Amino acid sequence: MAMTDAIVSVTGVRRAYGRKIAVDGADLTLSRGRILGLLGASGSGKSTLLRAISGLESIDAGTIVIDGQVVSRPGQRVPPEKRRVGMVFQDFALFPHLTVAANVGFGLKGRRDRDAVVAALLTRLRLADRGPAFPHTLSGGEQQRVALARALARDPAVILLDEPFSSLDSSLRAEVREDLVRALRESGTSAIVVTHDAEDAMIMADDLALMDAGRVIQTGTPQELYTRPTSVAAARLLGPLNLVDARVRQGLATSGLGQCATVLPDGEAWMGVRPSDLRLTEPGTGLQVQVESVGYAGAFRSIRVTSGLQALSVHVTHDAPAIGTVAGLAVDTARLMVLPRTGSGSGAAGR
Ligand code: ADP
Ligand code: MG
Repeated sequence: MAMTDAIVSVTGVRRAYGRKIAVDGADLTLSRGRILGLLGASGSGKSTLLRAISGLESIDAGTIVIDGQVVSRPGQRVPPEKRRVGMVFQDFALFPHLTVAANVGFGLKGRRDRDAVVAALLTRLRLADRGPAFPHTLSGGEQQRVALARALARDPAVILLDEPFSSLDSSLRAEVREDLVRALRESGTSAIVVTHDAEDAMIMADDLALMDAGRVIQTGTPQELYTRPTSVAAARLLGPLNLVDARVRQGLATSGLGQCATVLPDGEAWMGVRPSDLRLTEPGTGLQVQVESVGYAGAFRSIRVTSGLQALSVHVTHDAPAIGTVAGLAVDTARLMVLPRTGSGSGAAGR
């Protein structure tokens, strides 16, 4: 990622509310034309960081640079309307008494090309016939596209979206998500999408930044982070995880699940594996486990097994064996992760 490619650079940003440190020295880079997902649990500081980038919040330490211009540093903040950002809020925040066209053109008052810009945006976001309509007559997905059109109207360098799907029914979610990604791609705009949902983040984003307790703990592509997290916290943010005790000696980690290479130093570690990277096999093959419980999860069965004292979660797409039966457990050793022992990690089975 070349330096010149950065459209937003956040360096060492800190923001406290009284004694509560919401953002604690966060770093991230958004590259031009890409979609960056900012993923973290509730309370990890995502919205505070996004609001700092938008200019709605000041910062106590660090710098924020947008398109080559320092827009935030301690004691100095370029106001939101003077930085080239477009915001899409969680509840869309459309003006209910204005038509769709007036909402989209709101930030273009006094511009002679206003009608043309609005018409072009409505067409691009498949809202061409919706201009005279009022927001409450639109579907959730359409309202979101209006909010995006309004944010795009002033030709921002970056679009910032905070939990864009949280006010939508789950039935609508996949469709709206697809629409939104397509609209962002077609506009060619760089975007930061804040979400607490790993699936939303992985599907939408080119790059992900994982947030935990006010810090960005790891960045990378969704696949890199899913398969090669560097901490238990990062691994857990992207999906369910089994953890078992492991020991590292001379670059080789060993646990009840198997062995794999690691760069971690000698000593205690965790070995992690996703429930979907474990398979149940015929008894007598692989590790011997006992089936403790079976949960139906639609697309898969979530099965809890025990192997000795250790509980493990296994996700299978075929029929589950009966509770109490003995089965074999096959481990895809290429999918094993070795994770450092720092921080919390107790409680072995994932969901
Ligand atoms: P997220 O968006 O990841 O859920 P937030 O950025 O909203 O997290 O909040 C991070 C932390 O900062 C939380 O502990 C939250 O309670 C606290 N916080 C956020 N905004 C304020 C505020 N205006 N005043 C006091 N505390 C706040
Ligand atoms: Mg938030």
